Amino acid sequence: MIDDLLHADRGKRPQHRRTIKAIHEWLVTQHGATGISYSTVRDYVTDRRPILPPPADAFMDHSAHEQRSDAVRQDPRDEACASANDDCPFCLIGAGPDQDIVVFRTGSIFVIPALRQRPANPGQVIVLPVDHVTALHKAGPALLTELFNAVTRITAAMPAAFDAPGSTVFQNNNTPGQSLPHLHIHVVPRFAGDGFVIPGLATEPASRRLRAGIAGRLRQALG
Ligand SMILES: [Zn+2]
Repeated sequence: MIDDLLHADRGKRPQHRRTIKAIHEWLVTQHGATGISYSTVRDYVTDRRPILPPPADAFMDHSAHEQRSDAVRQDPRDEACASANDDCPFCLIGAGPDQDIVVFRTGSIFVIPALRQRPANPGQVIVLPVDHVTALHKAGPALLTELFNAVTRITAAMPAAFDAPGSTVFQNNNTPGQSLPHLHIHVVPRFAGDGFVIPGLATEPASRRLRAGIAGRLRQALG
């Protein structure tokens, strides 16, 4: 029930969203939930608000924002290409004071535990730019260096932090169904028998002709 309110609010600017006090009052007056305390509602909203997907129309705001950013951007790989996006939970965390859920941060990147955790891979983190950069190829060289320096610090720390013998790094660029279009690089601690697979892992041997065709298409695209 609260999730429906929070979900609808995700399409609004922060100043237009319901406050925790308003949600608590709504539960008490409209639904007779007199036994529920303010702190219970506060804790629930604080946990849930960042991880609920925004409504579909909020994504239209994202593309409008990107178009505006593109218009003023001289170099598409300029790392200062995008500023904070009001509708993006990663922008909110990146700009926020929540130090307890931040592993470490610099002026331009930060590292947090993934918002959803695999029980078989506890300790998954994501490395993100503070700015609302929407794809790996939209980050400039300096930002890429900083992001991957952070990734390697995390991969090096996985054995000591989680007793994980290894890790897997992956990242999506505007893939179908991707819910959060703010660049983030996953680092997943790996354990024997964890069953972790990247979907679509099935492969078959590729002929030299097929591999040459792939290489040629990419060479052509790269110009
Ligand atoms: Zn963002």
